Amino acid sequence: MCVPASLLRHDALAYLGYSDSDLDDKTQEILHTALAHIAEWSDYKQHYCYLKDLPEMPAFLQQASYKSLQGKLDTALLFAASLGLGIDQRIRTLSLNRLSEAVVVNAVANAYLEARTELFVKEILPGAVLFCPGYAGTEPGDNRYILDLLDAQKHLGIYLKESGLMLPEKSMAGIVVANYRFSCKSCIIRSKCPYLKQGKTCYGSKPALD
Ligand code: SF4
Repeated sequence: MCVPASLLRHDALAYLGYSDSDLDDKTQEILHTALAHIAEWSDYKQHYCYLKDLPEMPAFLQQASYKSLQGKLDTALLFAASLGLGIDQRIRTLSLNRLSEAVVVNAVANAYLEARTELFVKEILPGAVLFCPGYAGTEPGDNRYILDLLDAQKHLGIYLKESGLMLPEKSMAGIVVANYRFSCKSCIIRSKCPYLKQGKTCYGSKPALD
């Protein structure tokens, strides 16, 4: 599945916090190379299952923090994806003595994983979003339930470290849910949300308060 180069470039720059005009010639070249090769440097894999195919609704989805998903889970899927260990290793090696290159490759890898995931979501359930544990007051650690239910260790080689971070690091897990709109309006942690305090959101776009 091919990710449009312009989209990848735009998202990688967003991860870097730069615009095109901020980049010097050397960084432009590093970015160009990373964009051209990220697909071959990665070993993208994904795995999913429909919630309706599980013997019962997972208990973590019945917590109050997932209330906003209720009524939308009949068509939803559990999903996980990873770029594999090779790209982690490449970034680690670069960071030893070519730090600026490591930073750019890291941003391109993040953008690539996100773009591949978005393409999958668009194809499997048009109009749906990927709701990841950690959004809207849910616990990031709930990733472990999704990974367990998908047997992500076997299918994708994803391990969950004690810290809760996934290995390979360029991995993600979540629930693909249709007819869902991110909003802070009824989020259970809105009054103390660390994202809103910084003018950001957990879902990456402007705060929706209606
Ligand atoms: S950004 Fe909004 S939805 Fe996300 S955790 Fe904060 S209040 Fe909740």
